Amino acid sequence: MFLSQLGPDQRDSAISQLAIEEFDILVIGGGVTGVGAALDAASRGLKVALIDSQDIAAGTSSRSSKLIHGGLRYLEQYDFKLVREALHERELMVSTLCPHLVKPVGFLFPLTEKFKERTYVGAGLALYDALRGFQRALPWHKHLSQRQINEIAPSLRHDIVTGAIKYFDAQVDDARHTMSVARTAARHGAIIATRVAAESLIREGKRVVGVSARDLETNKKIAIKAKATIMCAGIWSDELHKKFELTAGYGVTMSKGVHIVLPGSAIKSDAGVILKTAVSVLFLIPWGDKWIVGTTDTPYEGDRAEPYASREDVQYILDQANRVLEPKLKAEEIIGVYAGLRPLVANIKSATTTKLSREHTVDRPAPGFVSIAGGKYTTYRVMG
Ligand SMILES: Cc1cc2nc3c(=O)[nH]c(=O)nc-3n(C[C@H](O)[C@H](O)[C@H](O)COP(=O)(O)OP(=O)(O)OC[C@H]3O[C@@H](n4cnc5c(N)ncnc54)[C@H](O)[C@@H]3O)c2cc1C
Repeated sequence: MFLSQLGPDQRDSAISQLAIEEFDILVIGGGVTGVGAALDAASRGLKVALIDSQDIAAGTSSRSSKLIHGGLRYLEQYDFKLVREALHERELMVSTLCPHLVKPVGFLFPLTEKFKERTYVGAGLALYDALRGFQRALPWHKHLSQRQINEIAPSLRHDIVTGAIKYFDAQVDDARHTMSVARTAARHGAIIATRVAAESLIREGKRVVGVSARDLETNKKIAIKAKATIMCAGIWSDELHKKFELTAGYGVTMSKGVHIVLPGSAIKSDAGVILKTAVSVLFLIPWGDKWIVGTTDTPYEGDRAEPYASREDVQYILDQANRVLEPKLKAEEIIGVYAGLRPLVANIKSATTTKLSREHTVDRPAPGFVSIAGGKYTTYRVMG
């Protein structure tokens, strides 16, 4: 039986094993996609190693909206396959895979007009609920009157919100969940080492037979041998394809998403709120005794490791939320801000990032080497 504990002693022993053993699978990247792939392979009895240049969930997988959802807005893009796949995963996570980590959360879709909007949104939510199939861990959506809304969400402006439809999705502490999957992979025998960066590929002829990596704590090189290498490097994919001298079948465009964190007292509502914006949606998400409000969706080309939120990002979020809130949110109430970068598979070079698909890509640019990118947190198992 293997231990699931990850720590300094375990890391020392992992570094030694990386240098001497030959693995069936080497995973590059300890975000949710990488740890999911490592767990899948290790639980099938394969000999697995995983390295991350930073820490488990240090990239996008700790900076999301923390929703396990089908993605209501993808319905409007007619991306039914993506929504159905994600809803299936959501139901499994809430009911079977990790109900201790993934919890249901209710959202109000506020209506500002009496009949047409209710019919349109109601039909969309009925389709959203139906697409999950017969596994039904979460309640069906519900129509609410203006009087009910005033009781449930006193912070929603009574002068413009004429009613709402309440639907359910789920939420998770993303970094904690990714760490739990990594520890479960370790429990199944996966060798996991953080602060180990993949630098180049080891080849025999055209075949990739491992990775030359660097232990960033000691600056020592490690030659890791593996029958297959799977790269799950998210927004670092383009950079690594270049370093590895591979001609990849896709590129990754980065889209920045910012969230602000507010105290629970800032918004009076017993449920979360989803608002349609000109380019996407904005969520007001209950988070313990706080609120997370976001997100933005803008093209990004700066530092991958440390994306930051600008004053404009924060103002945009406040402005969008304040369309329906009374009293309005104030900048002084903000107690935290974080920014993350979406890895969007760029299949159409000229497209704006908002329109790029959230579907994932699996690419095999060389024998013995696979790279996976794109997708959503919710569908990490499907990707791996
Ligand atoms: C603002 C925002 C909100 C989002 N909200 C949601 C949501 O609510 N629900 C949802 O389902 N999805 C959401 N997503 C999408 C989701 O978060 C991502 O799709 C997912 O986290 C990507 O995981 P990943 O493992 O592919 O990438 P990452 O988590 O970025 O992992 C890549 C890893 O590769 C490592 N790496 C890079 N270079 C090297 C190297 N040379 N050697 C070794 N390791 C390396 C990095 O350190 C990093 O840990 C959101 C994304 C953003 C940005």
